[in-house]
Amino acid sequence: MLSGADELRARFLQQAIELYGKEVILDLREPAGVGSMAAPAAAAEASPSGPLGVYATLDEFHQFIQGCLNCALGHSRKRFVFGSGDPKATLMFVGEAPGQEEDEQGLPFVGAAGQLLTKIIGVAGFSREEVYIANILKCRPPGNRVPLPEEVEQCMPYLHRQIDMIGPRYIFCLGRTAAQSLLGVAAPLGQLRQDSYRFGSAKVFITYHPSALLRNPAWRWDCFDDLKRFRAVYDAEVGDKPPMPPPDSKKKN
Ligand code: URA
Repeated sequence: MLSGADELRARFLQQAIELYGKEVILDLREPAGVGSMAAPAAAAEASPSGPLGVYATLDEFHQFIQGCLNCALGHSRKRFVFGSGDPKATLMFVGEAPGQEEDEQGLPFVGAAGQLLTKIIGVAGFSREEVYIANILKCRPPGNRVPLPEEVEQCMPYLHRQIDMIGPRYIFCLGRTAAQSLLGVAAPLGQLRQDSYRFGSAKVFITYHPSALLRNPAWRWDCFDDLKRFRAVYDAEVGDKPPMPPPDSKKKN
């Protein structure tokens, strides 16, 4: 008789083989506290409209992919950073990759940039608990370097599946890497911020990464403008939030 976890793994294997028709790699190393199964080959799930319903819950999906060793970052990470927040959030934030504190805690945006992100979410009229926060990469790049294209390619199907399961109506990309990687575009951030995009059925907005805002506090005004652009759309379509507070003072430097 299979245990609950073994049954889930067997079901995952069966589903992965049916879905991907590819070899599913079993990682026999048992990382501390996590399942031992490596993820299915990444390229198989590159579409936001890919098949739904393979995992009953985000937690179940998390459980299956947290032992991923599809790229070298799987070997250097301390913790796999899946994401956090409301699994049915209307609004989702997408960052770049875990930093040191996220790697240690296994949660996204818990360091200094995360504290600023919490404020940004608050200014937009939401609480951290009612949005969902995830990253393009689930594992920390050494020294917080920018993700490599092959790492993005390997990891992106996980984010696609998260977006499919959560079904956010709005997505905010934080910074150039998040925007370019999710949308598959190459334009500079300044240009990307001005335009409207869609990812599947979600409307996508773009602003600065909180780390960039920490380094360049004057850019917070532009971030505020990006939040206002989002709220104008949100208020017209959903309209369940009080008006955004005005910024304390609007000195531009
Ligand atoms: N920066 C990111 O892009 N993501 C995190 O989770 C933390 C810092």
